[in-house]
Amino acid sequence: MITYTSLTSIFLSLTTALVAAQTNLTGDILHGVPVINYLSLEDVPSNAVTRYYLRVPSVNGGWDVHLPVFVARGAPETLSTGKKLSVSASIHGDELNGVRVTQRLFEKLEHEIDSLNGTVIGIPTVNPVGNYLNQRNYFTAGNTGFFTNLNRVFPGDDPAEGALGPNGQAYLIWNNLWGNTSNVDVGIDLHTTSTGSEAPLYVYADIRLPYVERIANLLQPDILKIDAGEPGSIETTFVDYGIPAVTVEIGSAKVWRKDYIERTLDFFDRLLVDLALLPSNSSEPYTPDLSETYIGTVFHSLPALYGGFVETLVNVLDDVDQGQDIAIVRNAWGDILEIVKAPVAAKIHEIRTDPSIEPGRDVANLIYNSTAWPDCEAGCIVSSRKGPPAQ
Ligand SMILES: [Zn+2]
Repeated sequence: MITYTSLTSIFLSLTTALVAAQTNLTGDILHGVPVINYLSLEDVPSNAVTRYYLRVPSVNGGWDVHLPVFVARGAPETLSTGKKLSVSASIHGDELNGVRVTQRLFEKLEHEIDSLNGTVIGIPTVNPVGNYLNQRNYFTAGNTGFFTNLNRVFPGDDPAEGALGPNGQAYLIWNNLWGNTSNVDVGIDLHTTSTGSEAPLYVYADIRLPYVERIANLLQPDILKIDAGEPGSIETTFVDYGIPAVTVEIGSAKVWRKDYIERTLDFFDRLLVDLALLPSNSSEPYTPDLSETYIGTVFHSLPALYGGFVETLVNVLDDVDQGQDIAIVRNAWGDILEIVKAPVAAKIHEIRTDPSIEPGRDVANLIYNSTAWPDCEAGCIVSSRKGPPAQ
């Protein structure tokens, strides 16, 4: 016999199933924000910026981890007629300028939502575990503990098949948020340089894929690094799947650079127009101003030979001559252990600001153009106290 109570429970379970089908809502609400397992763009409200938390693998002790996700959708039909842009920040937990850029970008989109012609998905903090520890990597506490660079494990491994936490997190972002690229036409991943160093506004661009160079130029960066990419990074995984993407580096880790944040937001203004996500007030495509941009193929880092204390003698964007003194490494007495010299004429891309140094860590990083290094046709990164081999 079907009772009123059982009918009610059948109705409730049907309703729950229908709601669950909608963008795979879990039914949980966190800080007033719905928790999802899966993003279906059709189910996201149009003409709005909507917030979700994407549930990703839990950590030791069963603590849940949730990634904040913004989704800006224009008018309903623009889901199919407009472009889809992805913005991600702080996959390295100490790299924070991109967090503010993402927040500010969605504030702007909220104000201009009626003009939005397409979809923008944003993750302001890709690595909350790293944010919690205020350092770069994802920490898993099993055994004695492991640090995983989340930006080397994309597109990840399936948690349902027993993936480790960071690999499973990458998998869920890649598949359940970005739809294995079906939710993304262009990807922008926001970083800074690593803790203890300083660099200007720069971009990694694998210009072998069409439109990547255009994106990089629209940034009008201080340095444009022509680069073959890093396997497992968000940028290179997108590029490998044919999705134009760049890695934007916004100043230093743990240092709020308002000037670079503003320049990156200006870049998004230009990119949104270039992708026709927002209307243009010009009939001509924007011509980037690259008069202050250095474009190079080689990043060449200069490792210290000794542990000690390093004093850098140059500033970022300085032009240096071959043989010029770059940094002094001293021991605890103040005796000079080595003077690091530029092995080649170059521009200073990055300097160490943390005086503490260990052998093999970079005291500075140069940029220049050369195809002399092996496998540098599409750009390369080398670490050496020697100059490039003779051609
Ligand atoms: Zn980074």
